[in-house]
Amino acid sequence: MVSNRAVVWSPDYLSYRWSADHPMNPTRLELTMSLASGLGLLEGAELVRPEAASDADLLRIHTPGYIEAVKHAGHSTTPGVLGPDSPHGLGTEDNPVFPQMHEASAILAGGSLTAAREIASGRTRRAVSIGGGMHHAMPDWASGFCVYNDVAIAISWLLDNGFDRIAYIDVDAHHGDGVQHAFADDPRVLTISLHQHPATLWPNTGWSSEIGRGSGEGTTINLPVLPGTVDAPWLRGFHAVVPGAIAAFRPQIVVSQCGVDSHREDPLADLALTIDGQRAAFLAMRDLADRHAEGRWLAVGGGGYGLVRVVPRAWTHLIAAALDVELRPDRAVPESWRERAHSLVPSVDLPVSMSDGGDVDYLPWDGPGGAPETGIPAVDRALTRVDSAVIATRRACFPLLGLDPEDPRD
Ligand SMILES: [Zn+2]
Repeated sequence: MVSNRAVVWSPDYLSYRWSADHPMNPTRLELTMSLASGLGLLEGAELVRPEAASDADLLRIHTPGYIEAVKHAGHSTTPGVLGPDSPHGLGTEDNPVFPQMHEASAILAGGSLTAAREIASGRTRRAVSIGGGMHHAMPDWASGFCVYNDVAIAISWLLDNGFDRIAYIDVDAHHGDGVQHAFADDPRVLTISLHQHPATLWPNTGWSSEIGRGSGEGTTINLPVLPGTVDAPWLRGFHAVVPGAIAAFRPQIVVSQCGVDSHREDPLADLALTIDGQRAAFLAMRDLADRHAEGRWLAVGGGGYGLVRVVPRAWTHLIAAALDVELRPDRAVPESWRERAHSLVPSVDLPVSMSDGGDVDYLPWDGPGGAPETGIPAVDRALTRVDSAVIATRRACFPLLGLDPEDPRD
């Protein structure tokens, strides 16, 4: 049966749990699925249960020594923080050793792979796996709460299974460094990352000048935005760079990393998006897949540390986008979900609606120096700052894609 949309989910995703007080807590995934369910999104939806990624799958991106080290660590008798110089990054403050960490990480990777297989087989056009998006993991070390780079593994698999033009869009607050690293020299994969400026946030990469290497030059794009950026300037930046690049690249599939630590309440980053701005970004990426990739859209999760007030609502909007279910921002949060959330995290002031009331009306970018014509005072610092980044990024990358960096129609 072709359902055209699939939600890839396993309760085993909840075993990816670094420690009781680690910022990445699987409660966010549980509360997302219960909110999506409470709103009726999952009625009739195809839930696909993934298998864990095999060693052969993981070896697409990771080294044999690293995989062995992850297996060994997860079965050791000394979980927790071992020190800053732990081999392979396993046992640092960010990435403490936890029991069964190989198995827990392999199921997340298997989820993104399953989503890729569902789309490649033609069984579905869109698939979403909120457990994925571990975009910082490197070939032989854990990084930024990420053990196995599920999304790079899925892209690598797609490259071997009929796809040779893959667009990856990463809207997490942090630079998508691991995925960029995996494909920086591969012209078949366009990676685009929008993130908080590297001078102000770990991992301190993702400058406009990072454009790829060798034959992959021009298929790495970075748009860094300054701390405090709100919905409208963020969306202006997104639309000034992403649609033009996607149209020029002509992908067969769009892969989206949908980290939601860009939210104004996120404790680990300093961007200032609302749920509404994040929803607009998801819909924009879906629209790009519809327009340029025959609807093929693989969406994964990522960062997001507003475990109760942010992630569940944002990713419920993501699931709705993938399923093509109209979910209005002003929809009330079901009381049953509020009770569930309260029972898990009693101290949090719970949201009542699926919106933060954010303003997502952005002014389209209209070229360098265009702001005066739109009537925007040049002193609007937020726009000026985003435009500086837009111009730098377009000048670095657009000529390599055959586009005019100065022409707002490109
Ligand atoms: Zn992040």
